[in-house]
Amino acid sequence: MKKFENFSQWFDEILFNADILDNRYPVKGFAVYKTWGFKIIKRILQILEEKLDETGHIPMLFPVVIPEDAFAKESEHIKGFSSEVFWVTHAGDRELDRRLLLRPTSETAMYPMFSLWIRSHAGLPLKVYQSVAVYRYETKATRPLLRMREFLWNEAHTAHKNWEDAERQVKEAIEIYDGVFKRLGLSYLIIMRPDFDKFAGAVYSIAFDAWNPDGRVNQIGTVHNLGENFARAFEITYEDLDGSHKYVVQTCYGFGVSRVLAAIIAQHSDDHGLILPPEVAPIQVVIVPIVYKGVAEDVEAYAREVYEIIRRGGLRVHLDDTPDKTPGEKYYYWEMFGVPVRVEVGPRDQRERKVTIVDRLSFRRRVVELGEVVETIKGLFNEIIEGLRERSERTLKEFIKDVSDASALTKIIEDKKIARVSWCESIECAEKIREISGGEIRGYRIDVEEKPKGPCVICGREAKKVIYVAKAY
Ligand SMILES: [Zn+2]
Repeated sequence: MKKFENFSQWFDEILFNADILDNRYPVKGFAVYKTWGFKIIKRILQILEEKLDETGHIPMLFPVVIPEDAFAKESEHIKGFSSEVFWVTHAGDRELDRRLLLRPTSETAMYPMFSLWIRSHAGLPLKVYQSVAVYRYETKATRPLLRMREFLWNEAHTAHKNWEDAERQVKEAIEIYDGVFKRLGLSYLIIMRPDFDKFAGAVYSIAFDAWNPDGRVNQIGTVHNLGENFARAFEITYEDLDGSHKYVVQTCYGFGVSRVLAAIIAQHSDDHGLILPPEVAPIQVVIVPIVYKGVAEDVEAYAREVYEIIRRGGLRVHLDDTPDKTPGEKYYYWEMFGVPVRVEVGPRDQRERKVTIVDRLSFRRRVVELGEVVETIKGLFNEIIEGLRERSERTLKEFIKDVSDASALTKIIEDKKIARVSWCESIECAEKIREISGGEIRGYRIDVEEKPKGPCVICGREAKKVIYVAKAY
């Protein structure tokens, strides 16, 4: 299969052929989201934003520019991001009094405002989100959707009375993301990132690492507990019940919607093209009339009747009645776009008041009565998402390889797999692991409990953690 043999080429072809994204925009790392891709993105965001709304988050929109002095307030944060920010230094030919930067993430855009807004314990928690583009001058090779210099995400930022409330918020954020990713049929590891690789300014960071056919992990979401780090830098305090003034405790989390789209494509699609979870497919059902000379009119009228029934059933349906294409060409075309269900309507279907239904995942054909078409398709949608989820989880398991001696580590990473090793938690051994493997230490899982089965893969002393090593986007 090309997908696993030459992921990069396969992926580029799908992006182009299925009208997802055009990477030929004349600025490196920036691209045009085309109609099909952008429609999917809007549906993914809709699912997420509904969840955020339900859990008390409020939408806002902050400016794309951040003044340098605000950006510089939290020392770890600026250290982590300064090398990759885009600066705005001029207006016309006049130099600006103070430099502005394009948000690489919005802590330093939001928190000066949080410090004005938050006054008393009664106003907490504050939970704000926005869906925007952010800008990072990635120095590694850019890849469409996976690593871009402008990328789309949803970021949420929260402020709480104390550490316990912030900890509860971290759990809620993980549940929200996990719920959305599961609805999309994705599989991933939920990872506690090592201290030396956490988000700049966080107390700790959690990542959702999705598998990718080339063995690199695709970080589709992150959740951070910021403690009081930013509250102290931005003077975000509240008056408690007893009249004392306290710093808020903050969390933030980012949902990488460009990368989520990349994961949907990479995990689910095949050599015929896209396979989309029905919930985010811009068109869920395509009707292809099969017409022959002489009976064309009857079949066309019947196809329109079928179309109306499916549309009224609440599904996003399209009737492909373009005249110059054969049914086969139409099948091939909509398979490329990942439309979950195809309904074929031929003379025999018309005579018997039946339709022929084919799903994009198994290509199995079923002939059903017209009266059962909507229920059958809805049932198929469930089968498709279950099938995608199951297949994706199986592949994730196949990607993970246990490594008990250091010499095997290099080969596992070269073979495009994710290595699982025991580690003593020392920085020296971490560096050795990185050096030998050429991969990154992603961290240990928090979605399942794993105890080391042997000693540290490098030094042979007692291992404290089971960690995952992989290349990453
Ligand atoms: Zn060790």
